[in-house]
Amino acid sequence: MPSEPLVEIPCALCGEGATRPRYVKFDLPIAECDRCGLVRATPRCSPERIAARYSREYFLHEYLPSLGVIDGHVDEHFIDARYAPWIRLIAAHTPAGVSAPGRLLEIGSGAGLFLKAFTRQGWDTLGVEVNDDAAQFARERLHLDVRSTYAEDLDAPPSSFDVVAMMDVIEHVPNPSETVATARRFLKPGGLLLMQTPNLDAFSRTALGEPWAVLSPAEHLYYFTEKTMTALLEKAGFGSSTFVWSFAGFGPAETMNARYTHAPASWRTSAYATFSADIQPPGHFLRVYGTKNIIHADFNMRTVVVEAAPRFPSSIGRVLPAFSEAWGYLREAGKNVKDFANSEFHYFAGMKTLVSAFYDSILNDAPLPVSYRDMNRVSAMMDEIFRQVPQGGGQLS
Ligand SMILES: [Zn+2]
Repeated sequence: MPSEPLVEIPCALCGEGATRPRYVKFDLPIAECDRCGLVRATPRCSPERIAARYSREYFLHEYLPSLGVIDGHVDEHFIDARYAPWIRLIAAHTPAGVSAPGRLLEIGSGAGLFLKAFTRQGWDTLGVEVNDDAAQFARERLHLDVRSTYAEDLDAPPSSFDVVAMMDVIEHVPNPSETVATARRFLKPGGLLLMQTPNLDAFSRTALGEPWAVLSPAEHLYYFTEKTMTALLEKAGFGSSTFVWSFAGFGPAETMNARYTHAPASWRTSAYATFSADIQPPGHFLRVYGTKNIIHADFNMRTVVVEAAPRFPSSIGRVLPAFSEAWGYLREAGKNVKDFANSEFHYFAGMKTLVSAFYDSILNDAPLPVSYRDMNRVSAMMDEIFRQVPQGGGQLS
């Protein structure tokens, strides 16, 4: 909660002051520029207060563990595997005349793991990092050349790097226009700028709403879309840009991960994450029931298992009172039992309709077919049904 006056910040892209409100999170506003549409945290905390968030405590107990570095132990093979997709990505986009491996500058190099991966592949690397603990870790533990300075103040000749990288950095900096211009100054003609940043147009933002963890105005000062990112790059003089959405090694399961929320126990998160109420804690595991298969997706283990022999019988509808009535009606009407059991018009068809309508509502920000709470009730009911109905049981056949 802010305990000091907040500071109004003009748009980093077009200089406009006027905004339209988008979110208020942790008592801090996030607003959209009236002129160009760039979304930013304004008014915001002072730079000193923002910098104070990146404490030694944060570095040791949040940042390092989030990278898989526990008790300071760095597994270099893990680093190779983790960052291989980026090394391949850069190789695939290296312009003609620039050979990879070449010279790489990382702005905001953090603990240096990304930089270390490139060093291990033969790249000549340099990092800048304003967090002293992180820079020291990179120098002493990873033996990297990392300077404790802002990129703007780096003592290096202009046009001296083949690649400049900023991984999850641009959303944190006070003025992204200046930072991108600095990156361009250090790039050789035809060099490559690699940036990773959250996408404000992500499906998970629409689905998870305000609790979406990316919306965090004390640390994330800017929120880009393809449109505003393109404008930022063009303003700094970059000739062309490529957006990589389905990134190798992470992909849609990670992009849509329901873990990225500040409200993990909310109905909305739970309904988004799953149609099974068995998920505890929510968001690490997704189960989708189909008529023939159940798909189990474990986000932590990064595995997907298709259970081809469902534990539920085709006669599942019998345990639903409403369905029993329908069944009775159909029997009296002389309908064929097997046709009915195999018909598209049964419990699962109804669920399919409900689930489709639910996802449509998320994708289009439209009203829900039923409330999130009711989606959860349906999920809980389904779990109970699957528990009670024995394997291959049921009286219809
Ligand atoms: Zn603007």
